[in-house]
Amino acid sequence: MTDHDNAGKINGKHYLEGTITPRRCDCCGHHEIGMTTPDGEYIALKPGMRIMLELPV
Ligand SMILES: [Zn+2]
Repeated sequence: MTDHDNAGKINGKHYLEGTITPRRCDCCGHHEIGMTTPDGEYIALKPGMRIMLELPV
């Protein structure tokens, strides 16, 4: 995983905070789900990633 300015570390693992964002793939047009960091960087969610969600109120 690359280093991100806003990445945090908990128990030796890297965490990244962001907002879940759907988008359409540039190459093939398929829909994918990812997250946008406070920097505006989009990170696609991949199988095997572990995430922690803040539930909407
Ligand atoms: Zn695609």
